[in-house]
Amino acid sequence: MKKIFNSIIAFAIATLFLAACGSAPSGGDGALNVLASTTFLADIAQNVAGDRVKVESLLPIGSDPHSYQVAPSDVAKISESKVLILNGLEYETFIKSLLENAGGNRLVIEATAGLNPKEDAGSEHGVDPHMWLDPNLVVKYVENIRDGLIQADPEGTETYKANADAYIIQLKELDAWIVEQVNTVPAERRLLVTNHEAMGYFADRYGFEVAGSVIPSFSSNAAPSAQEMAALVDEIKRLNVPAIFLDTADNDVLAKQIADETGVIIIADLHFESLTDGAPAPTYIDMMKDNVSRITEALK
Ligand SMILES: [Zn+2]
Repeated sequence: MKKIFNSIIAFAIATLFLAACGSAPSGGDGALNVLASTTFLADIAQNVAGDRVKVESLLPIGSDPHSYQVAPSDVAKISESKVLILNGLEYETFIKSLLENAGGNRLVIEATAGLNPKEDAGSEHGVDPHMWLDPNLVVKYVENIRDGLIQADPEGTETYKANADAYIIQLKELDAWIVEQVNTVPAERRLLVTNHEAMGYFADRYGFEVAGSVIPSFSSNAAPSAQEMAALVDEIKRLNVPAIFLDTADNDVLAKQIADETGVIIIADLHFESLTDGAPAPTYIDMMKDNVSRITEALK
């Protein structure tokens, strides 16, 4: 009886030990600490990491990475990370000071590495970071994240490869679904006006014309001149643009002024830069589906 009891204790201890470690990579000091800059990157990376590693987001849900003000606790989060996943292309303007203050060593994965960004010499930001709004480009994000995780945790190689392959299939399905939805919108109505220049890659892939943006910059952290506002009003009238699409985090004051002058409708609750807690955008794929549904509904 005593022997059975000891076995149960031993089993319980083993179970506790496994629970504490999860299915984390063995060896070293336990679980691999993987941090992503934003919520949608954390979700993309979690699909590659699977059950092996938990990926945390540095920024909380609902924050705008373009204007993010760092919190004191962010330095500690960066310090503890062994892998840090960034979008790159100057998207994370807040990260430089955090990295300088955090110290320590970590593998930094730039999800956009190897992709060719759009450039705009007239913009405050020289390159357009919003590549994740085309799921075909997110395939490269997945490959970069997969390769980085394999480098940091070689024992997980097979897991990361299989998870990446499975998620890439989902991204291709998402792309086909978006094409179907967009095909319901007459070609002459495939016009996008957003708060800032966020939809360039999306427009290229799905046959939209970017008619303009309230803020003519790759960042929401900028302001238009009176002339730029007037030019946008003219363009909206000329092309008969049906709608302006805003991220839920965007300030809608200027868009409302434009709507007053043009009669354009405002869709103000899209999600370009952050997931949501629950519906409608708890994952990257849900975020894209919700945006595309809302955009195609408004333009049909
Ligand atoms: Zn943006």
